[in-house]
Amino acid sequence: MGAKDNPKAASVLNKDDLIVLAGAGGFIAGALTRYFHDQGFTRIRAVDKKPLGQWYQRVPGVECLCLDLQYEDNCKRACEDAIEVYNLAADMGGMGFIERFRVECLRSILINTHMLESAYRAGAQRYFFSSSACAYNVELQKDPNCRALKESDAYPAMAERGYGWEKLMSEMFCQEYWAERGLRTAIARFHNVYGPYGTWDGGREKAPAAICRKVIEAKDQGSDEIVIWGDGHQTRSFMYIDDCTQGIDMIVHCDKLTATPINLGSDFLISINDLVSLAERIGGITLKRRHDMAAPKGVAGRNSDNAFIRQILGWEPSTPLEDGLKKTYDWIERQYMDRKAGKRTVS
Ligand code: NAD
Repeated sequence: MGAKDNPKAASVLNKDDLIVLAGAGGFIAGALTRYFHDQGFTRIRAVDKKPLGQWYQRVPGVECLCLDLQYEDNCKRACEDAIEVYNLAADMGGMGFIERFRVECLRSILINTHMLESAYRAGAQRYFFSSSACAYNVELQKDPNCRALKESDAYPAMAERGYGWEKLMSEMFCQEYWAERGLRTAIARFHNVYGPYGTWDGGREKAPAAICRKVIEAKDQGSDEIVIWGDGHQTRSFMYIDDCTQGIDMIVHCDKLTATPINLGSDFLISINDLVSLAERIGGITLKRRHDMAAPKGVAGRNSDNAFIRQILGWEPSTPLEDGLKKTYDWIERQYMDRKAGKRTVS
């Protein structure tokens, strides 16, 4: 079985069924909005608290609402008449953000709590929640050569403080709305997602975008140095955005996965030092490395165990990191140059 054999929105829904995407001014929900639009859906509602001018993607024909979804009334408005609701709104960023702003991360629980209730009351058929590998027990992530995390590793619970605990609690809300109220929920635990139209500057960016930007900056400014957070031996896996959107669609429409958290990530493990080497190769430059040991660096190692997703969907994310990073690098370089030329960009 492969991707084409799994039920997806295009085979399950009518083209004029209303799909609601929360956090659509951001990276992943922005890409998901475009994905559904390209599948031919004619009623898509994109919602984000950011002003429209700051959204990464604006997709033609999509209804766009600027609403703060921490508030119940706004969630009710967002979910009116929805057939499917995808909640990807959260106050989040890379390690630099989630280690410093735990209160903001925890407060995202308000978004999921009100969105779930509003989706339920609106009679939605399906609800998606974007969880994270940060929900896993941190005790299992102390070694760069860690074993990959499987779904059962979230319990006994010892999630990343702030951000990870919010994800774990919101997962439980989704599970109980199915168990007690019959709302069909789906939960994916994303492992680092990267690609064009994501945060690349300003403090919320994640490692792939930050490293691409630093290489581009060094080239542009004639510098021969790059600053790396930590010793660079920390390991992660990185999933390209197109794998993420396709995976979400399959997870949401797979009845075997109802209310069942599942990894959605690449299982190709790479150290941050090797990720820098890859970005340098793409940029055609080699830089001296300075390691900032005081900077946030997160857990020592984290990878996705994909046995469950392979078993259920016969599919897993497979875009080679070199290919995805090249597309990301090229997009960030264009943003960087546009900004330098005084054009408006989103970061
Ligand atoms: P993002 O920051 O680009 O997008 C999130 C969007 O949510 C932003 O546009 C933000 O303005 C919006 N938002 C925040 N608070 C809001 C509110 N109160 N009301 C309305 N909108 C609000 O992040 P992303 O990378 O697209 O992540 C999407 C989801 O996936 C999040 O839930 C995140 O925790 C999860 N996730 C992402 C990654 C990753 O690598 N990007 C990894 C694991 C989990």
